Amino acid sequence: MGPQGAGKGTQAAKLEEETGATHIETGDLVRSEIKQETELGKKIKEYSDKGELVPDEIIIDMTKPYLDENDSWILDGFPRNKEQAKALDEALKEIDEKIDKVVVLEASDEELIERLSGRRQSEATGEVYHIEHNPPPEEGSEEDPGPFVQRDDDTEEAIRNRLKTYHEQTEPLKDYYEEQGILVTVDASRDIDEVTKEVLEAVGENK
Ligand code: AMP
Repeated sequence: MGPQGAGKGTQAAKLEEETGATHIETGDLVRSEIKQETELGKKIKEYSDKGELVPDEIIIDMTKPYLDENDSWILDGFPRNKEQAKALDEALKEIDEKIDKVVVLEASDEELIERLSGRRQSEATGEVYHIEHNPPPEEGSEEDPGPFVQRDDDTEEAIRNRLKTYHEQTEPLKDYYEEQGILVTVDASRDIDEVTKEVLEAVGENK
């Protein structure tokens, strides 16, 4: 769990490498439907572009098959509210599984807005850069991965909306998981490697 721009995707990819668990990113599932212009994609584009949550049933239906198909997962961007958390508990009960740990990546809104507005993705490779902190190879050079695109929901207005949604709907889940004794909070404002170290420690993977 964590607000947009906290580095969930980056850290989940590293965790996947270390643990072999399957990385399931609901934001990516949503973007893929939109890009392929499926019926579902057309229905959910409006929510996503505005930075609003896609209706719960749709997200739950999209995610469930991945839970059934794999033995262990890193859920990234799901659940995002109490209804989804309860639906996840139900789905896990059905397949006799449980959540081991909930890792929350935390950073201030100011830092997140700065990170997200500078984010650029290579159209060709999918690699994500930041115009200041992680700039892409020089334009015109051999490794130039341009052209770049900015996500439709990385505009300032959508970013503010996404953070508001996070604080109002997702953040209260911290109490839900704290009560179950499986919550770990990590300061995500630091370097990627420092955060990774702590995330791995949190899930008991650091030797
Ligand atoms: P993200 O890349 O995680 O920021 O997700 C991009 C967009 O996909 C979000 O702004 C939502 O519109 C939608 N989305 C992703 N995950 C969820 C979820 N668990 N519940 C509802 N909407 C979601």
